[in-house]
Amino acid sequence: MLLPIVQYGDPILRKQCKPVGNTDPALRELVDNMLETMADANGVGLAAPQIGEDLQLAVVDVSHDPECVTYLKVNGKDAEIADIMPLVFINPTLEYGQEKETEYEGCLSIQGIRTEVRRPAEVMATLPQLDGTTLVIETDGLLARALQHEIDHLNGILFVDRLSAVGKVSVKNRLKRLLSEREE
Ligand SMILES: [Zn+2]
Repeated sequence: MLLPIVQYGDPILRKQCKPVGNTDPALRELVDNMLETMADANGVGLAAPQIGEDLQLAVVDVSHDPECVTYLKVNGKDAEIADIMPLVFINPTLEYGQEKETEYEGCLSIQGIRTEVRRPAEVMATLPQLDGTTLVIETDGLLARALQHEIDHLNGILFVDRLSAVGKVSVKNRLKRLLSEREE
């Protein structure tokens, strides 16, 4: 089932989401719906607050671009993008590398804005799974960026918060317009 995607200005996008406790059938159904909604929207990621759920839960799929990372380790072993996609995780934690990189980003909750965001190039993400196991993913490229973007959502942070001072000025009017469209 396709779920409506919450848009910029909705207070749920600013929440520090609650940790997921039990992974019951209802949660699995929600995950299936999130995967379907992400694919339908051609997104590379979708976080639970974006479909109105206050939960530390997100999905990521970068399988359209298997060369989008220069390395990928899963639980310490070399792996391929296809081995772990689509990625579903709850209650994640992230560690960042020192080096930063600037790339274009957009968000399914902020329509019509695509702009450059500077972020750490490499991450180590600890991603508890619905089945009780945990994936530790070390990577860079688009996957590192998508993980940071989605995990930001679980902490009430949007990519427009991560822009440079100049970048923030450049999107200010477009964000205002999105808010006023909401109120109409
Ligand atoms: Zn987003």
